[in-house]
Amino acid sequence: MELIVATRNKKKLKEIKAILKGSGFKISSLADYGQVPKIIENGKTFGENAAKKAVKIARFTGKLTLGEDSGLCVDALAGAPGIYSSRFSGKPVCPAGRNKSDSQNNLKLLRLLKGLPLSKRKAHYSCAVALADNKGLFGVVEGRCAGLIGFALKGRHGFGYDPLFVIPKYKKTFAQLGEKIKHRMSHRYRALRKAGKIIKKYIEKD
Ligand code: IMP
Repeated sequence: MELIVATRNKKKLKEIKAILKGSGFKISSLADYGQVPKIIENGKTFGENAAKKAVKIARFTGKLTLGEDSGLCVDALAGAPGIYSSRFSGKPVCPAGRNKSDSQNNLKLLRLLKGLPLSKRKAHYSCAVALADNKGLFGVVEGRCAGLIGFALKGRHGFGYDPLFVIPKYKKTFAQLGEKIKHRMSHRYRALRKAGKIIKKYIEKD
């Protein structure tokens, strides 16, 4: 059975594919569909944006679609950058993942947290996953992963804020820890695990 992931972000897609490996789905993405309607991410929450992506693409293709929206929420910044994570520094977003805007975003975050001790650098990643078919939305779930914002960029794995996102248990960033560990505990993994249960019920009902 095909599952369309409504994204063009190659790094995200790679993670979603790795996490859903063995699920039996043939995973495709917007890259496989050429011209698709433009999705305007103007929701107020990750869930709203994920739902917009899923519903729009499911309606267009008539197929089971997964929408994903995620970001970093920093306590000392009252939850920012949140839903604006990819455009935090104001730089245009390149859907390919690690890019100019990622490094600008990280530098801006370091600048805003300058002088704060580790105890005041709490943050979490959040990921909303929405599921839709040609009849509309049938599920929205969220996964979170807690961490701390480090004092310098460390590691070369992952994407986005991973070089700054320290997992307290390991005292290392996601970018240092690599995919194997990230995919066992990330916000994306947690949201996809919940989404998997909803899809299972959806298939059984059909
Ligand atoms: P979206 O494509 O609008 O959902 O934006 C997601 C943005 O949140 C990315 O561009 C990253 O800046 C950030 N983000 C979300 N998930 C992760 C992650 O797993 N690692 C690092 N950054 C992430």
